[in-house]
Parts: sequence; structure tokens; C-alpha cells
Amino acid sequence: MEPPHLDGELLKDEASRQAAAVDFGNLVHNVPIGVLRPGSTADVGRILRWMGDEGKQVTPQGERHSVYGRSQVDGGVVVDMSGRKDVHSVERDRIVVDAGAKWSDVLDAALQEGLTPPVLTEYLELSVGGTIVVGGVGGTTWRYGTQSDTVLELEVVTGDGRVITCSPDREPRLFDAMRAGLGQVGIISRATLSLTPAQDSARRYQLIYGDLDTMLADQRVLLREGRWDYLQGAAVPGEAGGWTYLVDGSKLFSGADAPDDDALLAGLSDDRAQAQIGTFPYSDYAYRFAPLEKSLRSNGHWFHPHPWLATFIGDSAAQSVLAAELDLLSMADLGTYGRVLIFPLRTRSIRSPLMRLPAEEVSFAFNLLRFPVTDSEEAANAMVKANRAIYERVRAAGGTLNPVSAFPMSTEEWRTHFGSRWDGLCTAKELYDPKHVLTPGYEVF
Ligand SMILES: Cc1cc2nc3c(=O)[nH]c(=O)nc-3n(C[C@H](O)[C@H](O)[C@H](O)COP(=O)(O)OP(=O)(O)OC[C@H]3O[C@@H](n4cnc5c(N)ncnc54)[C@H](O)[C@@H]3O)c2cc1C
Repeated sequence: MEPPHLDGELLKDEASRQAAAVDFGNLVHNVPIGVLRPGSTADVGRILRWMGDEGKQVTPQGERHSVYGRSQVDGGVVVDMSGRKDVHSVERDRIVVDAGAKWSDVLDAALQEGLTPPVLTEYLELSVGGTIVVGGVGGTTWRYGTQSDTVLELEVVTGDGRVITCSPDREPRLFDAMRAGLGQVGIISRATLSLTPAQDSARRYQLIYGDLDTMLADQRVLLREGRWDYLQGAAVPGEAGGWTYLVDGSKLFSGADAPDDDALLAGLSDDRAQAQIGTFPYSDYAYRFAPLEKSLRSNGHWFHPHPWLATFIGDSAAQSVLAAELDLLSMADLGTYGRVLIFPLRTRSIRSPLMRLPAEEVSFAFNLLRFPVTDSEEAANAMVKANRAIYERVRAAGGTLNPVSAFPMSTEEWRTHFGSRWDGLCTAKELYDPKHVLTPGYEVF
């Protein structure tokens, strides 16, 4: 069947199709029959209806930072949203953007008005649509929730091609299915996101610890007291084995209102002689991942496979699970630039219904950011296998998956993952994407 009339273009050349089969993970490569560069929101609906009639599938792509082919489709059409990135308006408490905008676009536009999104991912070159459908966790998530919790309204093209605006008060079922819903029922075309006043500067604290228990204890204190604004941390592998533990966060401030280091560090048990403490313009702080990206691109590691794993562990099991898993890991499993992110969250701050966290007051993010030093497929596949084993141990200890992870999942496992929310997601699927056209890369349906 002939494609429908389009305002944009449907690319069918080999180079465009092959490019759409590569993501940051570089582990899975599914080649589409075409790549739509939509010229309008209506184009997205036209392609979805056309593919539905043809019995084929569609997936949107933002910045292709998925790690396991989640934004790919074999024999269907990719909708490349990266060109749909206009900033439509910035008001006192909100910004309206096309869903292909990156968080760097959102931040830059907001900062011009002295504003900022309350939650930013550590890396800002991710698309708004691509993070809303997975949640989007950052250094202020402990307080404000995920990026998907800061969404006020979405314009969505549903799997059956309708354009629907949804919010907590308008089509709430669709709104809840889109936020952290892995893009199973619609493609976000436009998003209205919360903004808050931006501070000028960040006082950054990078505190070093010799052991896991002390680091976790201090992270719990910082979380409980809400002392800092950003709160993250990591275990960094040493070349000779062993780990260095890091609590990394900041207090934001403006003008001469500099934070009181003594008060912000009181009672903490880090090795203070090794601490790195400094003041940075807020924008530089928000872009703190950029120098690492530059290094990884220049030494080629950015283009290697990235079998990342992201999970959440309840506080009660955190110490034992983390200690056991770190015992099994070394620099060889993570790469010279790799690290294990470990940081606490107030579970109740995360409100998007499809974001699954352990049923405890405090949870810890436990993420393996693997940057292998080779592009060996065999080594990468072994890490994918290891990811599954780690996830199973985390799950057995009451933990949950953050879906931005590299290993295959069956429908049955997603059912278990979504738990009491599974039926609601299935109902939304039947209502908004009855022909199951959308986003097969997550293997949910
Ligand atoms: C270097 C790096 C750093 C990261 N840091 C963080 C971090 O700090 N916190 C965090 O939470 N995550 C982080 N991530 C993970 C990242 O948030 C997810 O992989 C995210 O899904 C990427 O979005 P994307 O648009 O770049 O990727 P894509 O691969 O293009 O898309 C990701 C998913 O979203 C879907 N999608 C894309 N656009 C839309 C749309 N408009 N409507 C509906 N669905 C859509 C795709 O189909 C796919 O399933 C990081 C990833 C990388 C590579």
C-alpha cells in the first residue's frame, strides 16, 4: 500500500534506515523499512494509522540514548522526533516544548528567564519525550520525584492516530499511561513542564569514603535532613581492585548568600582531606557530564557497546545487596570510566504510577554505568547476561527495575514488574493502541 500524504518525508534510503538501527547501547540493531521525519503532528497520526492498517509497527526515536534497542523496530517505521524541538513558550512556572527538544534546550530557554526545570538528568542531551516515558531520575529526584512527575500536560498522538491532550484533570488515564509507561500507548508530540526559579550557583561537595557502610549512613543523614539540594553518589572501581566510595551533591544559592560548609557537612564521616569542594555557576553544574562525554567521544569509548543496568533497592536490603554485588564486580566489568551509581531517594517523592519502586520509605538507586574499553561483542553479551543475574538477585531482595537497562524482558516479567499497575496499562493499551502498533523495543506486549 502507498504511504499516506505527508507534510514531512518518509526516508527509505539505506543510510537513514541503518542509522535508525543504532543506539547508545550498541547491542541491538533492528532495521526499519523507513524513517519518518514528521512535518506536523498530523503526520505522526497518519503513519500510525497506515502502519496499523498494514499490520506493522512504529516506534518514536528521540536522541537514541536507549541501551537495548528500545527505540528500534524491525520492519516497521521509526518516527524521528529529534527535529520536532521548538520551544513554544516560557512562563513563570512552566515551559511548553515539542517532545523532541532535549533537556539542554529546555534548560537554556528556561535560564534566559531565570528559571530551571526542578529535575534534570545528569546528562542533558536526552529528549524530553524519551525521558518522560522512562521517568527520568536526577540529583533532585529525592525531593521532586522523576522528570515525569514534573509534567503538567502532554499532547499525545495515540497508537490509533488520535491527537489527545492529557493532564491530571483531562484524560488522566492516558496521562498516567504515558508517564514512565515506556511509550506503549502513544507518541508525545508536545509537553508542558514545570519550572522553578533558578539559583545562580552550586556549592558542590564530593566526599570520599573508604567503606560502603559509612557512605550509606551519611547519605541517609543527608536525605533525612534534606540538607543538600542535589544528592547522589557512586562506588568507583580502583585499578588494583577495591572501591572508592563517593557522596556527590550540592547546595544551590544566589548572590552573596553562600552556603555554610560547616553546617552542610556537620557530623559526616568522610575522609575530609580528600574531599573536593567548589563553587560553580549553576549552568556549568547542570552541564557537569559534558566534559566526560567529550573525553569518551574522543577516545572512542562512547561508541562501544553499553550494557547498562539500573535498579532500585529498598533501604532494608541496600547494605547487604550492594556489598554482595560490589564484591562480584571490578573495573573489568565497568571500564576505566565506569562507575556504580548509588544514591538514596524518598520513595514517596516519585508519583508517576508506572514508575515502580520498592515499598519502603527510602530506596537506593543502584545503577551500573558500564563503559567497556573494547567493542568486543562477546564481552558485551556476557555483561548483558550478568545484568539479568544481578536484576534477579535485586528483585529477590524486594528491589525493582529502572527500565533503562540492557537485557531482554518477557511480557510475563513486565507483568511482574508493573504489579498492581499492569491491568491499568493493559486497559490503556486496548483503548489507545488496540492494534499494538507502538514501541515493540521494550518487549512489553
Ligand atoms: C549518557 C547517558 C546518561 C543518562 N543519564 C540518565 C540520568 O541521569 N537519569 C535517567 O533517568 N536516565 C538517564 N539516561 C537514560 C535515558 O534517560 C533514557 O535512555 C531515555 O529513554 C533516553 O531518551 P532518548 O530520547 O535520548 O532516547 P531514545 O532511544 O530515542 O528513546 C528512548 C525511549 O523513548 C521512546 N520515545 C522517544 N521519544 C518519544 C516520544 N516523543 N514519545 C513517546 N516515546 C518516545 C523511544 O521509543 C524509546 O522507547 C542516560 C542515558 C545515557 C546514554
